[in-house]
Amino acid sequence: MSHVTPHWPQPSHPTIQQVIYATDDTSFTTKSLSLITLPPFGLFAKLDFPPCTPAPSPTYATVQCGINSHLNLNSDLLYINHSCDPSLIFDTTNLVVMAGPKGLKVGEELTFFYPSTEYAMAQPFDCFCGSSSCKGRISGARDMKPEQLEGMFLNAHIRELLGMNGTKGGQDDETAKALREVVRAAERALDGYLAAKAGAAGKGEEKKINGVKKVLNGGYANGNGIEIEAEGLRARGTTSRELSGEMGGDTRA
Ligand SMILES: [Zn+2]
Repeated sequence: MSHVTPHWPQPSHPTIQQVIYATDDTSFTTKSLSLITLPPFGLFAKLDFPPCTPAPSPTYATVQCGINSHLNLNSDLLYINHSCDPSLIFDTTNLVVMAGPKGLKVGEELTFFYPSTEYAMAQPFDCFCGSSSCKGRISGARDMKPEQLEGMFLNAHIRELLGMNGTKGGQDDETAKALREVVRAAERALDGYLAAKAGAAGKGEEKKINGVKKVLNGGYANGNGIEIEAEGLRARGTTSRELSGEMGGDTRA
């Protein structure tokens, strides 16, 4: 995916991707390094329209995103090489590029597993990614042996085209396990966030109720409603909600 003449403004992703271009007098191909660190499955980039455009057929500049659909990336994301132990996942169902199960570090090469999106590749090649799990000859998923695809993140259209749907259903592989961990952590964070929010609001309500009680008690005791009511409001004091939200605190998103 390196021999394309860019027709888009470069760099297209200056905050997340550094492209190292191959020069004529070196043998290595163009590659990309990460400029950011991400947790497992953290969002790296979205496949937006534009710059992406539908492509009628697969080329070295496209990514397959459905059984009969392909995208021209029209960006530096094109310079993300293949690896059999990739740092990124192209999730073409959700049109996002995310970190793999191990997360992503600054300086790490950006790679993804080409057969995870491509069913039939125009230009198969021999992989020299150096990974202990290197699959060797890389072609579209159609021409790979089942054991070469075992345990890899494959997009829904690839599984469908391979007739893999429903096989080993319900059993978590390594990717599913790692994803489940992230989902659980997010659920715990959501629960904690909502509980903290409810707790803060509850405390405010409680203080308000105490203030009102004081007004009522004072009214009965002194018979001077207005003055006691003012005392009650003062006694209520400032609620945490007033401090944090309505009074302009630090909860702004
Ligand atoms: Zn390889």
